[in-house]
Amino acid sequence: RSAPEQGLGHSGSGSTLLGYIGIDTIIEQMRKKTMKAGFDFNIMIVGHSGLGKSTLVNTLFKSQVSRWSSGWGGEHKIPKTVEIKAVSHVIEEGGVKMKLTVIDTPGFGDQINNENCWDPISKYINEQYEKFLKEEVNIARKKRIPDTRVHCCLYFISPTGHSLRQLDIEFMKHLSRVVNIIPVIAKSDTMTPDEKNEFKHRVRKELETHGIEYYPQNEFDDDMEDKNENDKIREAMPFAVVGSDKEFQVNGKRVLGRKTAWGVVEVENPNHCEFALLRDFLIRSHLQDLKEVTHNIHYETYRARRLNDNGELSFQNTSYVSLSSAHRPKPPTLTSQLHLGLTFDPAI
Ligand code: GDP
Ligand code: MG
Repeated sequence: RSAPEQGLGHSGSGSTLLGYIGIDTIIEQMRKKTMKAGFDFNIMIVGHSGLGKSTLVNTLFKSQVSRWSSGWGGEHKIPKTVEIKAVSHVIEEGGVKMKLTVIDTPGFGDQINNENCWDPISKYINEQYEKFLKEEVNIARKKRIPDTRVHCCLYFISPTGHSLRQLDIEFMKHLSRVVNIIPVIAKSDTMTPDEKNEFKHRVRKELETHGIEYYPQNEFDDDMEDKNENDKIREAMPFAVVGSDKEFQVNGKRVLGRKTAWGVVEVENPNHCEFALLRDFLIRSHLQDLKEVTHNIHYETYRARRLNDNGELSFQNTSYVSLSSAHRPKPPTLTSQLHLGLTFDPAI
């Protein structure tokens, strides 16, 4: 491994007092390391059935994101989602590799009794934390732990124009403590621009009234610059998106869009909807921060709870519930419950 060449080269024989030390090469060293290691980035998509969640997963991969990658294409009808399913793509650009995984979930809240209907989702999220924790405390620790933790959870809100449903509120309240929640308004092509703006305003107010902390959370703004930038984003949220995996010819260009009574709504046109805004927010401006908040806040909370439970870690069971006390009756089905209805893409 070569020493920081610039630093040594500059002063002839190592560093001299008051000479050039080469601290500014740290950034380049970090860049090289990071590029070699690559990134994992995991987005989860949640909401009621029929809001266009699976379509948006396809849209993400078919839009700019996947034009970078290969192997995604062809027309196919989206089947009803019946299990939690992760789709991964390795995307490479400018020598940087990113494994983007989108975790699609079945519509929840479709039952008559919706009590605790977010359980499978929070279990999935916690299970990824548990996996990571296990790797971290392993004696033979991997040099780089594969990261399957959910870095953000897009929560789809129905474009009713009225208000949030009780279930939306309950879900976001519960889950905002374990994961970065980003609320989005689904199928926004079904609203006029005025309706859309009014609805966005109303949803923001309701979220505030109920004390729901969505991402980017006020309390984690690092400094004034951060705060100003995030304030602008918070004022524009929730992003009103449109999904489609169909292409149309517009002004001689093929674009992803939806045909409506007043023409083709172009998914990636920022004048038509906020899909591109959302995508750039997730990938271009806040990807690293989403990962950091996940690791430093949500995972840390999980880890602290696990370690505190009995003053020691115990991996007799994959559950995050405290289990190390021999006197306590063992919850016998917990492990199997965790896997109920969940399938894991072996490729993750
Ligand atoms: P999911 O149950 O949330 O996964 O919803 P799907 O992606 O399966 O979509 C349900 C239906 O809504 C399909 O007929 C889609 O073509 C349609 N759809 C998806 N996204 C949009 C959208 O942005 N606008 C409109 N108008 N329809 C959409
Ligand atoms: Mg679906």
